[in-house]
Amino acid sequence: MGRHTGPVCRLCRREGEKLYLKGDRCNSGKCSLERRDRPPGMHNWRRSKLSDYGQRLREKQKVKRYYGLYERQFKRFYEMATKQQGNTGENLMVLLERRLDNVLRRGGLAYSHAQARQFIGHGHILVNGKKVDLPSYLVKQGDVIRVIDKPGSLKLVKEIAEKHAVTLPSWLERKPEPLELKVVQLPVRNEVQIDIKETLIVEFCSR
Ligand code: SF4
Repeated sequence: MGRHTGPVCRLCRREGEKLYLKGDRCNSGKCSLERRDRPPGMHNWRRSKLSDYGQRLREKQKVKRYYGLYERQFKRFYEMATKQQGNTGENLMVLLERRLDNVLRRGGLAYSHAQARQFIGHGHILVNGKKVDLPSYLVKQGDVIRVIDKPGSLKLVKEIAEKHAVTLPSWLERKPEPLELKVVQLPVRNEVQIDIKETLIVEFCSR
């Protein structure tokens, strides 16, 4: 499996900000946005001022790209967020953070959401001892995530965990042996890694 899977840096360039789609590379000097002060390939490029509608749409697209969601998947999460008590935008962000693919990435067991989805889809991941092959599975407080006890799976994920330096969010704990992640509490909004203005997303979706 290639080290970097999924969307390419082009998406970050289009947004003009970091979407953290390529794991370690995003926090290194190799990030193309760190190396250039403007999107590559476009001489004297400047982002034209967006309309209010454009800003709201852009924020929604940004969250979809970051978590790697299709429109239909995004809508399903948004619907869930509207049905919960409290602030819909914050509910949405917390729900997205609870996705199993995001938990693997935040816990340093995958370089990217795309790679985490591959691990889950290929049956490498157990939650509370049971195989879960749905990247959209929502973790709960107390869930323990492990790699299936097969030499190939363990080797693959352990190598990533050793090389991939991440700052764990406060809601996750990681143990080395056996390698596991524990959800010590539900995620909190202010630990989402990218800068998202979820109020704009709610304004867009509630038109
Ligand atoms: Fe590429 Fe990651 Fe930098 Fe985005 S943040 S431009 S995905 S290296």
